[in-house]
Amino acid sequence: MVSSVFQLQCSCNNYPWGKKGQKSLAASLCAKTPNTGFEIDESKEYAEMWMGDYPVLPAKSLKSGEELHKIVDDNKEQLLGKTCIDKFGGVVPFLPKILSISKALPLQIHPNKELAAQLHKQDPEKFTDPNHKPEIAIALGPFEVFAGFKDNNDIQALFSALPPLERFLPRKDVNFDNEVLKQVCYKILTASDEEIRTTQVELAKIPKEKYGKQAYIVDLLPRLQEQYSKEDPGNLVALLTMNFLSLTAGEAIYVPADAPHAYLSGNIVECMARSNNVLNTGFCPRADADSIELFTSALTFSPHNAEEVKLGTSKTEKSMHGKTSVYAPPMSEFNMLKTSLQDGGKETIRAIGGPSVLFATRGSGTLVADGDTHEIKEGYIFFVGQGVEVSYEAPSGLDVYQAYAE
Ligand SMILES: [Zn+2]
Repeated sequence: MVSSVFQLQCSCNNYPWGKKGQKSLAASLCAKTPNTGFEIDESKEYAEMWMGDYPVLPAKSLKSGEELHKIVDDNKEQLLGKTCIDKFGGVVPFLPKILSISKALPLQIHPNKELAAQLHKQDPEKFTDPNHKPEIAIALGPFEVFAGFKDNNDIQALFSALPPLERFLPRKDVNFDNEVLKQVCYKILTASDEEIRTTQVELAKIPKEKYGKQAYIVDLLPRLQEQYSKEDPGNLVALLTMNFLSLTAGEAIYVPADAPHAYLSGNIVECMARSNNVLNTGFCPRADADSIELFTSALTFSPHNAEEVKLGTSKTEKSMHGKTSVYAPPMSEFNMLKTSLQDGGKETIRAIGGPSVLFATRGSGTLVADGDTHEIKEGYIFFVGQGVEVSYEAPSGLDVYQAYAE
């Protein structure tokens, strides 16, 4: 029988929006797992560390080097449990990541289950699985993000006050509803380079007061232009129609399937259902953009203001000493626990009826589970099989996140 609790070694991908070298928290946490041979190259961008069994960038057992999905596959009943197997199949149904973002990620949506299944059938190379991908993002420090649509009234206010935007309206004096919003997004995304550039030049000349409470647009526009280009339609869709949020450590957002989002900067913990499907339309070279028809037809209009995007925490009955709270997104396969211990703190997490992956982002201490004591410290990552209670002791403080499904 395999041990139900074992340390993982993970790796990072190098998307160009990642932070460079040591500045990337994804890379510096990844490098803290001992004896992996992972060394940070200061000339490279490190975007995401993946901590799951997804085959694209699989985690491995630190001790044996065996890939997590193989270990899980060979010991399904023990590690996942029957309920989880029946519900989600014989895999870990979620994928936690650390992201280090230096510039905007592509403006994207993740197709819902129905569309994902259809796309996977048509083009399995590109859409690698038939699953939906709701995701949560938890700020580890200052985090800027565009997510979900603004309230229609706020969008209306901009289009009424700013004459250069008239060219994207389906007709004059239109009242914004979701159908109009969809048409406007489509028009912006399909506009010529020239139209996009001209609009941005004209917008930059309009005094800040005209933007009312959305004057942040004037400050963000040059930043986005510098990151991609003055021809990128993502600049306009994000600034004009989407919520812009500036979060601090511990705050989180929930992005349901089909909701538009683009992360702009920061270090975050991200967790999603086990899927890698995405449709990109902005903040990327046009040649890399996916079908705008598909993107706009799939768009969902929930969330529809900044408050709806935010995901709060609540108490959890899994905590024995009250040092743990839970991020529980609606309509999702997974939850995320956050245990925060100060000097000398203790916590026990009651047995969970499914698999979990836990990782420390601060401090050090011990982890006792399944009869073994493990050292745990910043950057250490563990897989925990179903039905196992986990206890922490931290003489000098410890923050641990634990993604689970049951
Ligand atoms: Zn996403």
